[in-house]
Amino acid sequence: MTQSRQAKNSEGCLSLIFKLFGLFGDEDTATSLPYRRRDSILTAPEREFYLVLLKALEDKAMVIPKVGLQDVFFITDKEKYQTARNRIAQRHVDFLICENHTLRPLFAIELDDRSHNEATHQKRDAFKNLVFEAALLPLIRVPVKHKFDVDALQKLLTPHFDQAEKTDVPPVCPNHKIPMVRKTARHGDFKGKDFWSCPNYPTCKELINIE
Ligand SMILES: [Zn+2]
Repeated sequence: MTQSRQAKNSEGCLSLIFKLFGLFGDEDTATSLPYRRRDSILTAPEREFYLVLLKALEDKAMVIPKVGLQDVFFITDKEKYQTARNRIAQRHVDFLICENHTLRPLFAIELDDRSHNEATHQKRDAFKNLVFEAALLPLIRVPVKHKFDVDALQKLLTPHFDQAEKTDVPPVCPNHKIPMVRKTARHGDFKGKDFWSCPNYPTCKELINIE
């Protein structure tokens, strides 16, 4: 077998493998594929809000639009991993506000348009709210308006900034080697006091009191 013949054979083999996995067909060329660049990754109302948001933040933080929830959250429970992962797959948040250099998430903003009043949307929104609550990441819902106001937005965001500054880096559970979550005691001698708890509570009883 000549070298070129060999090369052709292995090429054929490779493209067969690609075809099996649906990576590309023989007929694909850049011009035949139906993908074109959007004028913006944001819709017109999103873009309008984004510009006001940039002004309101005054370079204090980075705005990242349309972030997948899988990139924002990690999953603490190994047994529920796949289910938990599937529940946030294909979901995103409109704007994630991150610390400038570390890109540590500080809080997130959802622009709520009229579709959010529909029942299916409300159910999805409620689940998303819970995901953010579980991870102690504030999610601010802003109704879409014709005109966004820089001052009003600043007033809305400032408390969340202050809160994010105060949020410490969580300690790691000595048993599970995963970040602990901050909770507030609801009753007992320590009522109202904050403490760190293992995400696997009540299976894991590890806790660290916060002074
Ligand atoms: Zn633990």
